Amino acid sequence: MTKLEITKPNFGELTQVASDLYWAHFELPFRLNHVNLFLMDTPNGWLILDAGLKSDHSEEHWEALIKGPMKSQKVAGLLITHYHPDHIGMAGWLQKKFDIACYTTEKEHFTAKTFRSMPDDEYAKIFRNVFVRAGMSEEDIIAMGPATRLYKNRVHELPEFEIIKAGHEIISNEGKWIVRTDSGHSPEHISLLDSERKLYLSGDFLLPRISPNISDNFFDPLDDRLGKYLKYLNEIQSIGSETLVFPCHDWPFKDGAQRAQALIDHHNHRLNLLINELEKRTITIMDSISIIFDRKIGNEQMHFAIGEARAHLIHLDVTGKAKSVIDDNGTVHYSIT
Ligand SMILES: [Zn+2]
Repeated sequence: MTKLEITKPNFGELTQVASDLYWAHFELPFRLNHVNLFLMDTPNGWLILDAGLKSDHSEEHWEALIKGPMKSQKVAGLLITHYHPDHIGMAGWLQKKFDIACYTTEKEHFTAKTFRSMPDDEYAKIFRNVFVRAGMSEEDIIAMGPATRLYKNRVHELPEFEIIKAGHEIISNEGKWIVRTDSGHSPEHISLLDSERKLYLSGDFLLPRISPNISDNFFDPLDDRLGKYLKYLNEIQSIGSETLVFPCHDWPFKDGAQRAQALIDHHNHRLNLLINELEKRTITIMDSISIIFDRKIGNEQMHFAIGEARAHLIHLDVTGKAKSVIDDNGTVHYSIT
């Protein structure tokens, strides 16, 4: 993988990355401390790609862009890659500001809408179920309480969305982008490929530095999201080595096929670590965390770690390499087949 020599845009500025594509860089108050947003120049005006987290910083940043480089531009619409707060948080705010159409996929919309409208106690219950299922002690579950931030605190009231599907075409000033949708990090995530000009907006699915977290499917505990993500990583290698990849975190790069293969190897390594352990003993999701992560996981990161560990165990389960039983408490125990 090769990092492209493109300078990261400063606050209130855009960096032009193609004749009709611009990059903005917003700060995040998390361990992952930023998100990349993109703006595409189309015959109808600018299409904004992702909105940023609901925060004072995002609002100030959008205001600075609107007064600055976007000043004389007409805004045509907003496309949201997936439901995570750092991407969708400001969508409702932007729709109010510009009175524009907003687009995303059906499953991303469903997930965002469900979490945004859920009463606080129900939201807490969903997380509690995840922790119980993973085998976390009652004491640790109580300690986790403050770490589960409410979705609605980080996401403005949602805009009206128009639903788009895989294969949807977006015409920009000098290109044609095809929407692809994949499951893994989120249920029906959007990425955009202009195969003619060899440009790929990869969202959170192909990142140069970190392995995208394979998240919980709160609505279907047997959804093999890792299997679906591995399918994506196999398919996306067809973009080859020359395509320029613009991800939503970290920096633009080349050799996306090589990066996809490295991510496949990374997950296969974790699957092998789990199989080795399962050959010795039965484990819970909590047991598996110290097997696949070589660092200590704090409460802030625990929910992501559980999602990731669980995705690997579910993959072993649905591919017949492991089997699972649920005990009377609701905790899942995995053993070798
Ligand atoms: Zn995400």
